[in-house]
Amino acid sequence: MRTIYALATPLGGALAIIRISGDKTKEVLSRIFTGRIEHSRISYGTIVSGDTVLDACMAAYFESPKSFTGEDMAELYIHASRAVVNSIFELLSANGLEPACAGEFSKRAFVNGKMDLAQAEAVMDLLNSSAKRASASALMQLSGALSNEISDIEDALVSLSAEICAAIDYPDELEDSLPDISHQLAEINKRIETLIDQGLRSRHIREGCHITIVGKPNVGKSSLLNAITLEDRAIVTQVAGTTRDVIEAYADFCGLSVVLYDTAGLRDSDNEVESIGIERARQMCEKSNMLFIALDCSSPLTYEDIEVLSDVEKYEAQKAVIATKCDLVDSVKREEFISAIRKYNDYPIFFVSSKTNEGINELKKQVAELIAPSEESGIITNMRHIEALQKARCALSSAVSSIEYDCMTTDIADALRALGEITGSTVEPNIVDRIFERFCVGK
Ligand code: GDP
Repeated sequence: MRTIYALATPLGGALAIIRISGDKTKEVLSRIFTGRIEHSRISYGTIVSGDTVLDACMAAYFESPKSFTGEDMAELYIHASRAVVNSIFELLSANGLEPACAGEFSKRAFVNGKMDLAQAEAVMDLLNSSAKRASASALMQLSGALSNEISDIEDALVSLSAEICAAIDYPDELEDSLPDISHQLAEINKRIETLIDQGLRSRHIREGCHITIVGKPNVGKSSLLNAITLEDRAIVTQVAGTTRDVIEAYADFCGLSVVLYDTAGLRDSDNEVESIGIERARQMCEKSNMLFIALDCSSPLTYEDIEVLSDVEKYEAQKAVIATKCDLVDSVKREEFISAIRKYNDYPIFFVSSKTNEGINELKKQVAELIAPSEESGIITNMRHIEALQKARCALSSAVSSIEYDCMTTDIADALRALGEITGSTVEPNIVDRIFERFCVGK
């Protein structure tokens, strides 16, 4: 097995970390590092190439199997200059070590049983997470929350399978136990179903979510987008295209990454340029998780507003009415506005003012809760896991409706195989390769 090395940190700061993993770690480290080399200790010394000192640094050594990869490992905390890194890389290569491939450290940790596939993927999710909620989810997965739930379900399926096999040997008791077995299978399938539902919803936590603001001209859409994003110092950019195109901005809704789109109207237009913008707006509505229907609560609903309210119904996204310019209305007018809206729908209504900022923070908080409820900070945020669970659900549904015991055990075996893809116990090697290739070098 190759002993590998890689830079684990980007250059640009004061310090950089080089990671080393494999059988030759200790031997090479003792040749090039003058400090003490003891398991789980950091010591100070110099990196030397013959008589030449390449850097003064700290180094940590971890002995197999008590290391991240499960192999002998070292970390060199060096000065982050390109020249220092290059000279140490040359030294490591000259000593028979090889540059690591993307994700190779994590892959070795998986292969050596230090973590399962779901946990390894959580490492990557954690590195990629841009919002607090996403990193919290990744940390939960890293700590094994998902792996434990899957292994619980696997245990239940294995015992049921054993029960069925035993029943096959005693055909007289077979008839009696069938309803109970089917019931237990259905219960397990419900657990899987819940995981899938939570996973689909909380995927927004990892991937961020998209919100499109719709409404007739002058209701305050752009002002709303600015009020929401200015606070976060988000970048507001014009998406390439025509003048009536979509404006995109990034915001953080209480730990949830959000991309907001301010669109042209949704109505048909004879103007060619405007039609392009309208088509884009429709596309945005289709891909959005939520639509903000902006209505000016300081003036009566118009025919155009009502058209917008009816236009949005065809989109699957969750919807909220944003009652803009609320600084111009008192509580009586607000009640009247709510009554007017309730004739058309029961979407949540948020009163906001882009002028005074009233309601903006509450809007972010409530919307984050609507899109990705915090109690579902979910143990599943990964589409690969959701797909594996869907396969398991399909197999178990077939088992539940089966009256043949042989078919039942085959279906349960299929479900177990699908569940094993999540933790990596039954996953194909090429899928494992593909997963780790998406990691960065040094991880
Ligand atoms: P859009 O065409 O829907 O994007 O609307 P704009 O954001 O351009 O706003 C239209 C007009 O309404 C502008 O003159 C804004 O200054 C005004 N406006 C927007 N939001 C508010 C608000 O919260 N309060 C008040 N009083 N005026 C607002």
